[in-house]
This record gives sequence, structure tokens and C-alpha cells, in this order.
Amino acid sequence: MAILVTGGLGFIGSTLVDWLVEECGETDVVVIDNLCSESSNRQYMRSDVTYHIEDIRNLEVLDFEQTFDVVYHLAALARIQPSFDNPLKYFDIDALGTAKVLDLARKHRSKVVYAGSSSAYGGPFLNPYAFAKYTGEQVCQMYSEVYGLSTAVARFFNVYGPRQPTHGGYATVVGIFERQKQNGEKLTVTGDGTQRRDFTHVDDIVRGLVMLSEGRHNADIYQFGTGINWSINELADLFDGEIEYIPARPGEADITLADLDETKERLGWSPYFDLESYVSSFLESDTSHLRWRRFVRKEARNSA
Ligand code: UDP
Repeated sequence: MAILVTGGLGFIGSTLVDWLVEECGETDVVVIDNLCSESSNRQYMRSDVTYHIEDIRNLEVLDFEQTFDVVYHLAALARIQPSFDNPLKYFDIDALGTAKVLDLARKHRSKVVYAGSSSAYGGPFLNPYAFAKYTGEQVCQMYSEVYGLSTAVARFFNVYGPRQPTHGGYATVVGIFERQKQNGEKLTVTGDGTQRRDFTHVDDIVRGLVMLSEGRHNADIYQFGTGINWSINELADLFDGEIEYIPARPGEADITLADLDETKERLGWSPYFDLESYVSSFLESDTSHLRWRRFVRKEARNSA
């Protein structure tokens, strides 16, 4: 199979690329990534994968040798807070950029797996990021309905795990708490910390994406979460650190929680990783964390 991964040098994209090569034995994987995100990194490059350092909005300048069977579209400008200052840029990359990728898929007759966002459940009009990602879903729907393209929308719930961003405006709360804990700093909790999030391990996410690529879809939406949520206070307790309360952030949903019924029933996907074991393996040591990750991956493989 020839596979294109957009955003394949980011946190989730690079984990997906490793998974495709190492777990699925894929030998023709091409990545396009412009390294613009704080979580993307040249060091994730592999010698057995082809890379194009380019913006998805310039897709037409790339002269691909192969016709792609599957396109995983993960390239996006991520995160809610920075989107308030740059609505047009978010729309340009996340909505119009998605249209560019889908149009390439139309020409190649590729199946598309699109990284949507659970921010859609807070309402697409809560912030520019949620709106742009939601518009990307609608672009998928148009290409499915008008051109008969197979498109699947994966809505991720707060993804964590190795390679997650830990610094800067794009850092996620699990990454921030890891950094703060390692530096012996207080854990910054926004608002009163009662807001709840469904945290999902990146390996569960990439396994789900590959499962989506195996079927045909009509812009169907699949939720990838655990069906369990944690308040940020509870998360801080898992890290066993002192808390510093900081102001709440605007435009955030109070609660996110995946409803996994359809994803389980239609795709046969369930999560294997759990947040509590992840944090305790992180607190123990790097090797204990790696051992735990290998063990859970094996469990997932055996029951596939
Ligand atoms: N958060 C926090 N402390 C931090 C960073 C984030 O309490 O240092 C909160 C944030 O306000 C939100 C939750 O943790 O309620 C998850 O935030 P994150 O940025 O990881 O993801 P989001 O749900 O906003 O996409």
C-alpha cells in the first residue's frame, strides 16, 4: 500500500508513522509536514520513510511518484487558545488546507482518515480552532457525497503520551504537569480544577486510525476516548504535586467525555491504555514507562 501521512512529524503523526512501519509492516509511507508545530521534530524522521518538508497548502508543488491508497490527514494548526488571535490562519490551514488534501485524495482515489477534534462537542462556534476543524469534517462529507470518496472522521479526546508537547503555548495539561513535576515546580491548575477531560493514550489513537483505514466510510464520525473523564484536580492528585491555581481559560468546554458505543460497535475498537497506570509508570522511571507501554501494546496486538 502507498500511504500519505500529513503532519507525520508531529506528536500523533510521527507515532502513527512508527506504528505503520513497525506494527503493520508498511514499506511505502510518505510524509508531508512543514515542521511548524512546536510538537513536530526532525528527530522523528525515519530512514525507511520519505519526507517532504512542505505546507499542505502547497501540495500541488509536490510531484508524487505513487498513487496513494490511504491518506491520513493529521496536519493542522492545533490548540484552542492560540486560535483566538489568529482565526484566519486557523481557517486557512485547518479548513482550506483540508480541502487541498481531500482534492489530492480525489485525484488519487485514496481513502481518507481525517483527524477531527472532540472540541466539536463543546460547539463549533466556541473558538476558531473548533470551527476550523469542524469545517474540515464538512469538507470530508462533501468529498464523500459528491465524489464517492471514502472518508472517516476520528474525533480525538485529549491525547497524551510520549512526544506530547510539554513547553510553550501548544503544551497539553499532561505534558505540562510532567514538566512541572520533573522540575519540582507546582502544578498549575486553571480555574477551580473541576473541569473534566477524557484523556486518551496516543497508541490507542493510532491503532484506531489504522482500523479506520481498513474499511469504507461516508464521513462517519468515530470517537476516540476512554469513556472515563478526570477533573484536572484529580489529574494533579495522580501526579502527587502541590497545586497552584491560575485563572480559567476562555472558550473552553467544561466537560469532555467520549461515548464509545458506536466506535466499539462499528469499528471494534476499545482503548487499552489508562491514565492512572500511565502517570504511575511516568513517576517511577523512563524504563518502567517503556516496559508498561510495550506490555499494553502487546495486549492490544494479541486481542486484535
Ligand atoms: N490546564 C490546566 N493547567 C495547565 C494547562 C491546562 O489546568 O497548565 C487545563 C485547561 O484549562 C483545560 C484542561 O487542563 O481545562 C485541558 O487542557 P489542554 O490544554 O491539555 O487541552 P484542551 O482540553 O484545552 O484541548
